Amino acid sequence: MGRQLLLNSKSETKGLCVVYVMSRDQRVQDNHALNTAQKTAIKQGLPVVVVFNLLEKSGFRTREHYDFMLNGLKQVSGTLQRLNIQFMLSADLPGKTLTELIEQLQPSELVFDFSPLNGPRTLQKQMASRLPCKVSVVDTHNIIPTWDLSDKEEYAAHTIRRKIHKQLDSWLTQHEAALPHPHSSNLNNLGITFEQADKHLIKLTKNGSSINFDSGEQAAKAELASFIDKRLPSYATLKNTPTADGQSNLSPYLHFGQISAQRVALEVMQQINTPPLLLRQPRLASFDGKPTLEDSVNVFLEELTVRKELADNYCFYNQNYTSLEGAKDWAKESLQKHSEDDRQHLYSQDEWRAAKTHDAAWNAAQLEMKQTGKMHGYMRMYWAKKLLEWSASPEEAIQTAVFLNDHYSLDGGDPNGYTGIMWSIAGVHDRPWFEREIYGKIRYMNRSGLQRRFDVGAYINRWSS
Ligand SMILES: Cc1cc2nc3c(=O)[nH]c(=O)nc-3n(C[C@H](O)[C@H](O)[C@H](O)COP(=O)(O)OP(=O)(O)OC[C@H]3O[C@@H](n4cnc5c(N)ncnc54)[C@H](O)[C@@H]3O)c2cc1C
Repeated sequence: MGRQLLLNSKSETKGLCVVYVMSRDQRVQDNHALNTAQKTAIKQGLPVVVVFNLLEKSGFRTREHYDFMLNGLKQVSGTLQRLNIQFMLSADLPGKTLTELIEQLQPSELVFDFSPLNGPRTLQKQMASRLPCKVSVVDTHNIIPTWDLSDKEEYAAHTIRRKIHKQLDSWLTQHEAALPHPHSSNLNNLGITFEQADKHLIKLTKNGSSINFDSGEQAAKAELASFIDKRLPSYATLKNTPTADGQSNLSPYLHFGQISAQRVALEVMQQINTPPLLLRQPRLASFDGKPTLEDSVNVFLEELTVRKELADNYCFYNQNYTSLEGAKDWAKESLQKHSEDDRQHLYSQDEWRAAKTHDAAWNAAQLEMKQTGKMHGYMRMYWAKKLLEWSASPEEAIQTAVFLNDHYSLDGGDPNGYTGIMWSIAGVHDRPWFEREIYGKIRYMNRSGLQRRFDVGAYINRWSS
């Protein structure tokens, strides 16, 4: 099928421009969807218009997340202008909705970027059937397009790893650059300005989180450079240590598409001479002493390719990705069997939000997320599993986890988050473990397990003081 998937079978029509509806991939460079729109427009002698649609409600996002996004989009708009490509913002305002804007622009062809989530896919299908022109979607978020990587919901990391390894070489190629566009647009800006967007969003969203990240393509590149320089060499040993600054910190940028996973993989691979191993799950525990740079590159690529693309695969083929319905039968049955088990602690949403549980480690993880806009990856598993243990039901635990994660995490609202929550609470991509209270056969985690890995007291002190 390739990177571009047709969403309707309309034949070529005459139009005033080619439109790219930017959504998940908020960048100009390394963007296959923009490249596709530009190539089509050059063939047809037309301008390109990039439209970004401000959703009225994007999950449980806070005002700060929207600010981060709008700051990035302002930079996108400026870069596009220098390339002679027009940028417009649509919003749920009279005369300014996406459908109205597109109808007025009269495109000869329309390109979306890809998300496996239900909301964007429904919108894209509706537009494809409503508009008279050809409509397609281009996967520029994954290194291997989701539909090409696998035609079904994968069972676990080991089943998708083989497929990724087989196809990675042919997809992990250098990007084409976005070039100055030869055909200028004479169309009026039919959308809203950034100032109007700001005012519009003030009415819709509330402040509620802190963010430790600068926004935009340049900031994303700077974070990647700092990771490669300072943290990549020890990634294999430090990535799971919440008291160390061992992760890449790229998830907010990957989530908003301010950097492409393909670019990240290419830059990281350039640091070693041999091709990545990726043949089996790299074993962190086997690195006695200092890992080699090659070990770290391989461990990182496992996360960026196998885990990340497995998450898109799950959400693409399983629409119940935020509900117990999306779990395998063994997990549903086992959780159901333990649904009446006595819970030692139960908390209200206000208590969860305020980090007011009896467990200082859980509270510290929640506070890390609230204070920075991101929780350490290792603590996310513990945090979600304790939500299962201290909620009235697994379904309630999933809903609370989704709310808190999307509300406070800058990288929230992402297939990685939904899949991570379903892995922790509902055994998705995992196997049955020894049966125990409340968890049933879902993998268990406890405080002494944390203690064996790192200094939990130091982590608590860092975030709770
Ligand atoms: C309960 C729970 C909630 C999570 N919520 C989110 C979320 O909202 N958004 C999000 O992007 N990730 C989420 N993850 C996955 C993972 O924890 C984060 O991707 C990672 O911690 C992000 O930090 P980083 O970019 O510094 O990671 P690094 O360790 O530097 O990894 C680099 C990249 O690889 C990918 N990656 C790493 N680990 C995973 C994983 N387990 N699954 C899928 N992709 C992975 C991400 O794209 C990440 O940015 C969640 C995991 C769990 C268990």
